[in-house]
Amino acid sequence: MAQYDYDLFVIGAGSGGVRASRISARHGARVAICEDFRVGGTCVIRGCVPKKLLTYAAHFHEDFEDAAGFGWTIGETAHDWKALISNKNTEIDRLNAIYIRLLKDAGVELIEGRGSLVDDHTVKVGDATYTAGTILIATGGWPEMPDIPGIEHALTSNEALELDSLPRRVVIVGGGFIAVEFAGIFNGLGSDVTLAIRRDLPLRGFDEDIRAGLAEELTKKGITIAPNTTITSIEKTADGFSLMTDSEEIIECDAVMYATGRMPNTKGLGLEEVGVHVNKKGAIAVDEYSRTTVENIYAVGDVTDRIALTPVALAEGHAFADTVFGKKPRAVDHSNVASAVFSHPPISSVGLTEAQAREQYEAVDTYVSRFKPMKHTLSGRDERSLMKLVVDRATDRVVGCHMLGADAPEIVQGLAIALKAGATKADFDATIGIHPTAAEEFVTMREKQPDPTTPGSIEPAE
Ligand code: NDP
Repeated sequence: MAQYDYDLFVIGAGSGGVRASRISARHGARVAICEDFRVGGTCVIRGCVPKKLLTYAAHFHEDFEDAAGFGWTIGETAHDWKALISNKNTEIDRLNAIYIRLLKDAGVELIEGRGSLVDDHTVKVGDATYTAGTILIATGGWPEMPDIPGIEHALTSNEALELDSLPRRVVIVGGGFIAVEFAGIFNGLGSDVTLAIRRDLPLRGFDEDIRAGLAEELTKKGITIAPNTTITSIEKTADGFSLMTDSEEIIECDAVMYATGRMPNTKGLGLEEVGVHVNKKGAIAVDEYSRTTVENIYAVGDVTDRIALTPVALAEGHAFADTVFGKKPRAVDHSNVASAVFSHPPISSVGLTEAQAREQYEAVDTYVSRFKPMKHTLSGRDERSLMKLVVDRATDRVVGCHMLGADAPEIVQGLAIALKAGATKADFDATIGIHPTAAEEFVTMREKQPDPTTPGSIEPAE
């Protein structure tokens, strides 16, 4: 008789957990997975997928306007928020059912409920306990909000995806991925949006040119960016909310949404009791094989402090399964992971920002192209795309690739392969473009930007 109920018990059926359990089962392991909400996790249920559907919805607003320049007459348009949310929910239900079926087809047992560790081989779900040779924690993350008076009135992205109606005036606090994405969603659907950020520009960590370019485009679309602003309190009023800023200004709105980061879901898992170490942020500490400080307990995805992106969690879950049950130990390479922000217009990046490259390399060349996309020559829209390459001068390798503009995520995905393969600027130059596209700019940029580290190469400001 087997020593344990299962070879693998997975806590959390999001992207990382589901991938790990399916692949482990394929390698012959007897697997169970528990989930306390809905199979699919953040990405499918209340993250990437519903967000992108709402992003599409928001973009129609501009598409209708742009159509006029191409000869179309569009009658009066109106948006039905309830219909959008209902259709989005139907799609999420469909995906949720597919995920459940995938687990079933793989022979993975799905247990409903919240799991916690009893000891290093035992998990408790409700009143039942289960034993397993290996335990994988894949519990993801959860929105984090600062503790200010009135914070209970604030929405997070979870509730924003389920609102009964579109708020007329919405304040979004934070300048990260979620904040700028929802700013575009609400703005496109007709809300009056204020983005309150505690820095001068949104998206800290992204290339400075992209950050500045995005701020400009958001402003052109009518989003009010309140820079260097921290909200100190939220008060409910007769017809909405009144927000106080740290410079004692008052912002009135109908909804306030916080997108101030996400924290790993580690509370109540019983980690400390069994010796699984967590770092200062509460994230599970793991080695390159996703192994925690307890030999048979592993963790993947947002619950670890690596890169909080779905494809990274999938890769970590797959590598874990191959390592532990597939006799093919392998670690995930976390370098040159491309990411996208589905703002309006979207952003996508892979590799180093110019600032990071200048810290890492002795000499860096940059190439920047800023242009009006062809579509807007007829639409008349005042929107500019921006593309940037960052090159290590010594080796000629392209070490960073950044884009702000329509289709940026679709374009940069391909370029991520080039960076991963170590392509040089000469390789980019030797590549013949596809015409007429925006993407061809990436292989036709010849003019280096003036080197800010060389005295005299930049004209002094007047
Ligand atoms: P981010 O970490 O991207 O951004 C958090 C933002 O909130 C930052 O601008 C930060 O400012 C600000 N902030 C933090 N604390 C406070 C505070 N107390 N008061 C005011 N502002 C504050 O988090 P998100 O919540 O947007 O997203 C979480 C993660 O989820 C992302 O990092 C990303 O990995 C992932 N994600 C990916 C998406 C994609 O792939 N398209 C989409 C959505 C999420 P500062 O910069 O000053 O610290």
